[in-house]
Amino acid sequence: MPGNSRPTASPEAGARMQPTRTTRLLQTGRPPAGQGPRPVNPPVMRASTVVFDSVAEWRAARQQRQTRQVLSYGARGTQTTFALENALSELEKGHRTQLYPTGLAAATQVLMALLRPGEHLLITDAVYAPVRHFCSTWLPARGVDCEFYAADGHDVAARLRPGKTRMIYAEVPGSLLNDMLDLPALAALARSCGAWLAVDNTWASGWLLNPLTLGADISILAATKYIAGHSDLLLGAAVCNERAYPILAHFSESTGQTVSPDDAALALRGLRTLELRLERHERNALAVAQWLGRQPAVARVFHPALPDDPGHALWKRDFKGGNGLLAVEFHDPDPGRRDRFVDALECFGIGASWGGFESLAVPIDPAALRSVGAWHGRGSFVRLHVGLESPEDLCQDLMQAIAAAQFTTAPPQPDPDRSPP
Ligand SMILES: *Cc1c(COP(=O)(O)O)cnc(C)c1O
Repeated sequence: MPGNSRPTASPEAGARMQPTRTTRLLQTGRPPAGQGPRPVNPPVMRASTVVFDSVAEWRAARQQRQTRQVLSYGARGTQTTFALENALSELEKGHRTQLYPTGLAAATQVLMALLRPGEHLLITDAVYAPVRHFCSTWLPARGVDCEFYAADGHDVAARLRPGKTRMIYAEVPGSLLNDMLDLPALAALARSCGAWLAVDNTWASGWLLNPLTLGADISILAATKYIAGHSDLLLGAAVCNERAYPILAHFSESTGQTVSPDDAALALRGLRTLELRLERHERNALAVAQWLGRQPAVARVFHPALPDDPGHALWKRDFKGGNGLLAVEFHDPDPGRRDRFVDALECFGIGASWGGFESLAVPIDPAALRSVGAWHGRGSFVRLHVGLESPEDLCQDLMQAIAAAQFTTAPPQPDPDRSPP
């Protein structure tokens, strides 16, 4: 096994080793050496009030906290949350990280902190649905002009309004159907008109893609998903470059965003096994995707690691791997039989969110969440999160659920009212 072989070149005496990112994932955010005995993991520090020995010390802490991680008040962070911030900054190759109570809060805070009345936002049509809702309601009510662009990003250049466009917001791959975007191209467009590029990087969770290295200013993470990895907490993060961080940090303080130290400690624990879990999620998802692709009831499976996926080339260029998320389109457009399929599943829980160790299934209606361009889907859709169970069990479960649904397997006939004359 090449992975087990020892390095052949003999290192120079005294040279400091440069650990790989696999090793750094285990080391980052841990209590530093050189300060005596210490636990492996940072202690959970619960605090609202922090007390000082003198007014001078209190005053110094309040001054320093503007630029450094110092203990001053619980809402401004503790040893535990600082450790997670630092780990995420390293993971994403960012300057610093701002934590939020949920992934959705991270996304909406980024939008509110960086956009002002009269400014123009370009946001992907494949954005996570609650962010779409925020950009269709609250943000326009505050004077921000929100415009959606096509899920494949082909129309971004044409929609750009130099002098007015202040942010391009991307999510890659997009929610539900895994649409791919060309991030370096979006970064060049954003730069050309002085706009921010914010990227929701929850799918890759900081491990499979680092948007900041491709020109983004901010990488948004729902740590709720693969980083936490066990479906037992909610947490968000915005990993920032030097330009974006001070604005987000200030807005966060002003609006009282803070996270629990217990959740931060659990997220840090989850982070240690992120690489291992993602590898297995991807392997299982591909086994399930290939099996589904052979079923007569299935019209299409959506996962960018599949060679015939339209986003496959971009995914291969930019990503280091895949995860357990996929969508299935059944030929049968009947939502009742589709729901019967989901109800019949035994290994897949019916539930929102994903990124935990377990498999999940939910009926989805992508057409209802798209507003740009024509929608070509004809069948009914289910989103699967493929967990760490045995893929044989998962395929067996899917097989009995397909049988129970009693799908019509033939592709639907063209609707005479909708076909061209
Ligand atoms: C789940 C999700 C979020 C929101 O995360 P929460 O912690 O549940 O608020 C944001 N973006 C994407 C892409 C997600 O899948």
